[in-house]
Order: sequence, then structure tokens, then C-alpha cells
Amino acid sequence: MKRCKNYINGAWTESVSGNAAPTFNPATGEELAQVVVSTPEDVDRAVAAAHTSFYETREWRDMDSQTRGDFLLRIADLIAEAREELAYLDAVDMGKPLREAEGDVDDAIHCYRYYAGLIKMPQGGSYGVNAGFGEMHSYTIHEPVGVVGLITPWNYPFLMGAWKLAPALAAGNSVIFKPSSNCVLSTVKMFEIFEKAGMPKGSVNLILGPGGSVGSAIAAHPGISMVTFTGSTAVGQDIMRCAAANVKKIGLELGGKSPNIIFADADLEGAVEWAMIGIFFNQGEVCSAGSRILIEESFKETFLRRLVERTNAITLGNPLNNPDMGPMVSESQMNDVLGFIRKGVEEGATLVCGGARYTEGECAKGYFVQPTIFDNCTSEMTIVREEIFGPVVTIQTFRTEEEAVALANDTIYGLAGGVFTADGARALRVIKEIRAGITWVNCYNPTFNEAPWGGYKMSGIGRELGVHGLEEYQEVKQININLNPGPVGWYEH
Ligand code: NAD
Repeated sequence: MKRCKNYINGAWTESVSGNAAPTFNPATGEELAQVVVSTPEDVDRAVAAAHTSFYETREWRDMDSQTRGDFLLRIADLIAEAREELAYLDAVDMGKPLREAEGDVDDAIHCYRYYAGLIKMPQGGSYGVNAGFGEMHSYTIHEPVGVVGLITPWNYPFLMGAWKLAPALAAGNSVIFKPSSNCVLSTVKMFEIFEKAGMPKGSVNLILGPGGSVGSAIAAHPGISMVTFTGSTAVGQDIMRCAAANVKKIGLELGGKSPNIIFADADLEGAVEWAMIGIFFNQGEVCSAGSRILIEESFKETFLRRLVERTNAITLGNPLNNPDMGPMVSESQMNDVLGFIRKGVEEGATLVCGGARYTEGECAKGYFVQPTIFDNCTSEMTIVREEIFGPVVTIQTFRTEEEAVALANDTIYGLAGGVFTADGARALRVIKEIRAGITWVNCYNPTFNEAPWGGYKMSGIGRELGVHGLEEYQEVKQININLNPGPVGWYEH
């Protein structure tokens, strides 16, 4: 049985507590590995190592961008060599179908290659400033923030790590990384890859353990200059409070309850399939999930009949056998989702599909939940208001474009949204009105390393990916140069 350890200052280390806890395969209940349970003292050690790396040895920080970019390309190649193993680890640890896990690894490889290229591009600008104090030249340079803490959730164990590690390292920071304790296996492999690639000591540090103790220790640590977090909105708020202690820079990628608006002129088969991708991909454990279908009243019957028909054909099974859906990540996540389903029934929504745990055949010992559709939902219902983070979708109807937009924006969240219609102008009008950071027209959920990812409202602060994703991990310095050195005569008036 593998024992997963911390990686601090270039060495695999036990936690100070000496404790470890098991991690399980959610499809079978079988134990996969023992994972050390770190303490705030382990975080102190990682911060000390990262500090030495950033402020004293400076090998990673001072590496020219050409060499640092090449380093990241080598890391991408090593990930590509380990593609099968990494995908397998996410599938057995988290429960996602193998073909989805393979797609995640491919995206991660591209993410490292993208930031390897981006860090070699010109950054900063020069400014034509006013000449009140004489002729000046003003320009900006981008510098790494310093020691940064990165905290990720379990739903995309490998990919969420890449979205943070690739830009943070491209920028020249030294990092302390904490994955969700639910799913650490692919992250441990990633740090083996960093070791193999020869990352300088202390530039990449891994801390394994629970969010409540080590996650908050990272968020509060005075030796860390920035924390970026992907996870639930409630924990994001805690992180903001902790980060206030030393006014850390923060980046928050939080929850969502995203609308998927379907007009009657939409392509039926396309809208049905993308709606399914929107809510059943990754078992619905997706922050941007299209969990609220808003459909034009006159189209509901036709759309829903086909959606139910196709949803009933979804296969559930062991992720390694490539079913359409795997299990929920854990027993407690399954129970949370089933609790929301009960609440939906109690509050009067009409269950038209699924609604229960699934235990047929190879699913007997796993934490599987049937894909579930609720019709006749209203905006007050818990299942419409709260993020379920499972394969559960609600259906509400509208008659006018204005009504559709009002329903779409009736949420504390603002992560994502989709519109299906054959009317291009209407699609653009509606998209402009949706208060969310990630939107799709006639599709739902495709995600690109080149384009900024992040939320409005209570879905977060800042953006990952794209150029924005690199700038998040940089400070910008303005440099003003007097082109005529010498006195300016200010006190001689
Ligand atoms: P979570 O908030 O429970 O945990 C996320 C991470 O934070 C984990 O590593 C956890 O150990 C750590 N953590 C927990 N409590 C902490 C604390 N008090 N201080 C510091 N760290 C702490 O989320 P989860 O259950 O792992 O993931 C599901 C959530 O993530 C959903 O709300 C989902 O919408 C969100 N998510 C958002 C995005 C996005 O891009 N916006 C992407 C994926 C997931």
C-alpha cells in the first residue's frame, strides 16, 4: 500500500504528527493508499523552504524566461509520458470515467505548454507621461509575487492543480500546494514529475492534509504573499478572512448555480445533448454545471421528453470501464446529493427521472447516484438556489427573453451560463445580460486554456487561465526615469 507524503524542500517527508489516513476508491470502497495528515507545523516548514528558495537561493526566480519556459516544456513532456498512469489515478481516486480523466491530463499538458510559451512573450508597457517634473520615461515590469499558496478541490484533481501550478511557476514564484484530501494520488505523481524534472529545491512544496487545519494555516500564514483557492464559496469566504491578516493577494474560484437557457427555436437534439454534458459530465461535480435549465414554455414538453429518454439511457459503472458516469467522490458527497433530492421532492418539485442511489451490478459497493431531473421547479426551492454538486438538474419555464434573463440572474452566483437559440442576435443580447464570467452559445462546458476562467458575484475573484491567469501570479512595478538628471528648481520659485 502506497504511503503519500509531503514534498518539502526537495524531499519526501512524513508529517510532524506522524499520522496518516486512508483514501478510498469511490466505485468499489477499496482502500487505495495512506495519506499523511499534516499540521500547521508542516506548513511552517514548507513556507521556510519556499522562502529560502525565493529570497536566498533564487534559482527559479532568477532563471531567465527562456530557460524557465523550456523547463515547463520538459515538465509537460514528462506528464505526457505518464498520461495513462495519471488518468488511471484520477479515475480510481475521484470516480470520473477514464476517457474524461484522459481529457483532463491532455488539457493539463497543454496548460504547461501554453504558459511555457506565454512567459517568453513580451509583458509590460511604456507610457507617455506628463512632463510636470521634466521629461520622464515610464514603463512597467512584471515580477513574481513571491511565496504563494495554492489550494484545490477534488473534482478535477489533476487539472485544477495545473491551472494554478503552471502559471504560478511560469511567473517565477515558489509555491506551496495543497490538494483536497479526498483525492491526492495524481498530485503526488505530479510532484514526482517535478522532482524528476529537477525543479530547484524549495520551489515546489506539497502539503497533504485537511483544509480546516493546513488549508487555513496556508491562508493565514504571514510568510505567504498570495493564496489562490478553488472550492466552495463558504470556504472561500474563510480564506478571505484569514488572508486579511497580512493583506495577501487572493484569487478565488468558487461555486456556481448556472443557468442554461433554451429557446424554442433551438436545435432539439443539440440542446438535449449539450444540456446533458452541462449537468452529467463528471457526475455533475463541476463548478460551471448547467444545473438550472430554463426553457421556453412552448418547447418544454418536446425537450423534456427527449431529455428524459436520453438520460434514462446513461450508463453508470466503474470509471475504468468507461461508463457515461462514475460514482460520487465519497459516501458523504453521495449522501449530500441524495439529501438535496429528498428536499426537492418535499418542496414540491416533480421528479421525472432518477432520484436514487444506484446499486446494480458492479455499482453495488460504490457511491453512485442516478442522473436526476426535476420538473416544475420554482425559484424559492432549495434545489434551485443551492449548489448541489451532483447529477441533478432543475427545469423552470419562461415566456419572454426578459423573463429568461431575470430567472438566469436570480442567484447569488455568477460563474457560468449558456443560451441555445437559432437567433444569433438574441443569443448575443441574452449573453450580454447574464451576470457571469463564462458563457456558451449553442454548447455548454467546453473550457480552453487560452481563455480567462472565473466568476462574477459570489463565484469568485480574479481569473485563471489565459493571459489573466499569468498576471494573477505577478506584481506589476512602474519604473519612472528622469531623462534629464539633475535639479528641477522646485524650491527656487
Ligand atoms: P471545499 O471548499 O470543501 O475544499 C476545497 C479545498 O479547500 C480543499 O483542498 C480543502 O481541503 C480546502 N479547505 C477546506 N476548508 C478549508 C479552510 N477552512 N481553509 C482553507 N482551505 C480549506 O470544496 P470541494 O468540496 O473540494 O470542491 C467543491 C467546490 O469547489 C464546489 O463548490 C465547486 O463549485 C467548487 N469549484 C469551483 C471551481 C471554479 O473554477 N470556480 C472549480 C472546481 C470546483
